Amino acid sequence: MNIFEKIINREIPATIVYEDEDTIAFMDMGPIIKGHTLVIPKTCCNLITDPPDDVVCKLMIVAKRIAAAQMKTLEADGVNIMQNNGKAAGQEVPHLHIHVIPRFKNDGHQWNWAAKSYDSSTEMEAFAEKIREGLIT
Ligand code: 5GP
Repeated sequence: MNIFEKIINREIPATIVYEDEDTIAFMDMGPIIKGHTLVIPKTCCNLITDPPDDVVCKLMIVAKRIAAAQMKTLEADGVNIMQNNGKAAGQEVPHLHIHVIPRFKNDGHQWNWAAKSYDSSTEMEAFAEKIREGLIT
């Protein structure tokens, strides 16, 4: 059983801010910025590609509500919504979760978002074509 399932089952404590029959949202114990909240489904799944679409829709609706609350009552100036899938993408806990991170002017946090480039438009088109293939197969 992973750590988030233990939170769902109340086997370990968590500071819960929202719960319904499908979803729980609780404070991340290692916040990027204070107020950082995690939204998870109660059904056991790992990657965003695992559960049926309606589970993902419900999660995103709750993430939207948390983001709105962070801007309203934490007075955040913005919000990052992030979601990691697989170790290569930085996922540590193997239970689907959405990070909702309040952002403030001058909060000092910077993502290491180093934009790269394609060698050519042909190379970009080859990647696009692979993705198109994946959408229909
Ligand atoms: P990931 O890297 O998998 O996308 O993010 C996992 C997140 O879960 C991290 O931000 C980490 O701080 C948080 N986390 C890991 N274990 C616990 C825990 O036991 N309780 C809470 N509240 N957060 C946790």
